[in-house]
Amino acid sequence: MPDPIKQAAIIGGGPAGLMAAEILAQGGQQVHLYDGMPSVGRKFLVAGKGGLNLTHSEANEAFLARYGSRRAQLEPYLASFGPAELRIWAGELGIQTFVGTSGRVFPSDMKAAPLLYRWRQRLSASGVVFHMRHKWLGWNEDRSLRFDTPEGEVSIRADALVLALGGGSWARLGSTGAWTGILAAQGIPIAPFKPANCGFEVSWSEHFRAKFEGQPLKSVVLAFTNSHNISFQRQGEFIITTHGVEGSLIYALSAPLRDEIETNGRAILHLNLAPDRTLKQLAERLDQARGKRSIASHLEKAVGIKGVKAGLLWEFVPKADFSDPQKLAAAIKALPVPLNKPRPLDEAISSAGGLSFAALDECLMLRTLPGVFCAGEMLDWEAPTGGYLMTACFATGRAAGLGALSWLNKQ
Ligand SMILES: Cc1cc2nc3c(=O)[nH]c(=O)nc-3n(C[C@H](O)[C@H](O)[C@H](O)COP(=O)(O)OP(=O)(O)OC[C@H]3O[C@@H](n4cnc5c(N)ncnc54)[C@H](O)[C@@H]3O)c2cc1C
Repeated sequence: MPDPIKQAAIIGGGPAGLMAAEILAQGGQQVHLYDGMPSVGRKFLVAGKGGLNLTHSEANEAFLARYGSRRAQLEPYLASFGPAELRIWAGELGIQTFVGTSGRVFPSDMKAAPLLYRWRQRLSASGVVFHMRHKWLGWNEDRSLRFDTPEGEVSIRADALVLALGGGSWARLGSTGAWTGILAAQGIPIAPFKPANCGFEVSWSEHFRAKFEGQPLKSVVLAFTNSHNISFQRQGEFIITTHGVEGSLIYALSAPLRDEIETNGRAILHLNLAPDRTLKQLAERLDQARGKRSIASHLEKAVGIKGVKAGLLWEFVPKADFSDPQKLAAAIKALPVPLNKPRPLDEAISSAGGLSFAALDECLMLRTLPGVFCAGEMLDWEAPTGGYLMTACFATGRAAGLGALSWLNKQ
């Protein structure tokens, strides 16, 4: 006798929830997917705006290291469904991928919408029923699920449940983090959300802000040493914002910067504005007679520092040091920029914190709520941008789907 079909509920239609739905539908179960928004995958679509970075092509060891202290927890799921499997999966949907110059992997047209459209079609064809505008409110006393819908509150019974409710940033796309209250009330341990891959606030002068807001700093090196004497250094670019700084180079160091501010109230970045020249070269060139040239024009002619780079020097270097070539050269090589605090969680690309792995078994089932599985960014891990976020969402979504499938088959 084949196993009787059971009802599986997925709440959350981001990449993690859609992947869980796919696995359960392939396993022959009746799958109902609920989401509070009018359509699924809103954050996925926004992620595709500047080019959907699905995953990364770097070697496995380097790839896994991106998950930092949560590597051990995520490794089993990434071993079953990592970058290679994700690319094959996308290919089966008719979405070819390519490796960009940075090693990041994108769909060949860079877009998220065609992938999401085909995926949703395939899920519907395999029997997944989508229930939009269903905001999960928690459980009734009889363990049925409570949803707020345009028709009022409804209750739904499910034999297995996958929660894939997302993190806490960009709430307008549906991931409001409201689920933390529901699960905390059930005694599930949850680490508070923190911004990850976020910008930081700097106390710019009005003059600097007005002149340089929105301007990029290209080919600079950021260095940062935290209070445990651990150093971080990276080359890239970032943008001056009205509140401070943001962009890929800042995001790459945002986790240690955020943690330093949390511990010590602030963090100081050291910015190398001329990575291609040595301190000695800079000092010698700045020491050349400047004649009638202004200091600004001397900086530009002697060492090519102008525009926003020069603006940063005027912002943070004492005026007297501009006539001292050694001190000015030292500032160009390592300009201290004090960061006050991270920008708010809602603006961040992703969130750190979330549901503790200690609450889950190896199938991502809540130990205290059998039959309830969790996946995606709602779990307590973080990673830099570069496709690592999406890959772990797909991998944990798949693992939670497999866990729920095996749970249903055992019932
Ligand atoms: C601007 C931006 C760019 C990004 N770019 C990239 C990138 O290029 N590469 C990358 O790897 N990552 C990127 N990310 C991160 C990536 O999009 C997320 O990590 C990923 O979407 C998380 O997937 P998820 O399925 O866990 O949650 P989500 O995609 O957040 O989905 C959660 C779903 O749950 C629903 N939901 C939440 N609460 C409830 C409730 N109570 N009831 C019903 N439904 C609910 C939400 O409506 C939502 O649809 C980007 C993020 C942003 C904001």
